[in-house]
Amino acid sequence: MADWHLGAHDETHAYRFCPRCGGELERRLLKATEPERLVCLRCGFVFYLDPKIAVGTIIRMDDERLVLVRRAIDPGYGKWVFPGGYVDRGEPLTTAAIREAREECGLDVRLDGLVNIYSYAGRAPVIIVYAATAIGGTLAAEDEECLDTALFSPPAIPWDELAFRSTHEGLRDYLAGLRHPISAAGAADGL
Ligand SMILES: [Zn+2]
Repeated sequence: MADWHLGAHDETHAYRFCPRCGGELERRLLKATEPERLVCLRCGFVFYLDPKIAVGTIIRMDDERLVLVRRAIDPGYGKWVFPGGYVDRGEPLTTAAIREAREECGLDVRLDGLVNIYSYAGRAPVIIVYAATAIGGTLAAEDEECLDTALFSPPAIPWDELAFRSTHEGLRDYLAGLRHPISAAGAADGL
């Protein structure tokens, strides 16, 4: 299994100044049951560092092969992952999944189900993985974040060269047939 590299979003110590007033931030224990928070010494603003929500799509082609892309950025440079990326604030998860698939490998996809959701102790990203079918577009490494795209039959998946723990576990669960229905609320824009 590939290591989950420390990502930029895990480096909470990187923040030194208050985003509201520019004052200095200090680590402070506000509640005994919660982690230390960054608190502004000048205005008292508490800088909560939330999880980062990411979506990934495991895309099946007509011939049953799956799409993987090779990462051109760290973490996981040169390793394989299914298309995906971070969800923008206010963007429905399913919209983000379809957008990232199009941006990273050039395919239009239909989402067939939720495979699972992955989170790990001490790590900022929460990864939501969908099963999808290609319905249009042309497979290509169109994105600056990808070195290459390729199709793999399930027995040919490069398990030792996958970028992240969630890549490994998502593919494993997908191939085991795990699917949850995508709720109507999750598929709709707005309320
Ligand atoms: Zn402040």
